[in-house]
Amino acid sequence: MTIFSRIIAGEIPSYKCAEDDRFYAFLDINPVAKAHTLVVPKQEVDYLFDLDDDTLAAMTVFAKRVAKAIQQAFPCRKVGMAVLGLEVNHAHIHLIPLQSEGDMDFRKEKLQLPAEEMQAIADKILENF
Ligand code: 5GP
Repeated sequence: MTIFSRIIAGEIPSYKCAEDDRFYAFLDINPVAKAHTLVVPKQEVDYLFDLDDDTLAAMTVFAKRVAKAIQQAFPCRKVGMAVLGLEVNHAHIHLIPLQSEGDMDFRKEKLQLPAEEMQAIADKILENF
């Protein structure tokens, strides 16, 4: 079982931002920007581009809804979308509110936000989903 499957199952806590029967969205624990969110399929597949076409298409539409909720909750110029998958072998999409190009820089020092602030961010995205 991957760490993300354990999160989806509720075995490991997460800051939930959105959910439906096939997908789950939650805050990245080491955000590159405030409201950095991960979208994952409940189906356990290693890499995003190994998902079947139907699941990938549906996940993209789900990610779009999450991105709209992020932008409503935290006004930004755009919401960036990235696929890395170098650390966790469970398909996922990164959604990151952007004010500038540098907000997508995964090499920069990660934010460390208090638990109450992370919870408040997730709640606000969930309210707008
Ligand atoms: P990637 O696999 O796309 O290279 O990176 C995985 C991402 O998942 C990283 O940004 C990392 O901070 C995040 N991540 C790894 N483990 C956890 C976890 O247990 N909880 C949460 N919320 N995020 C995680």
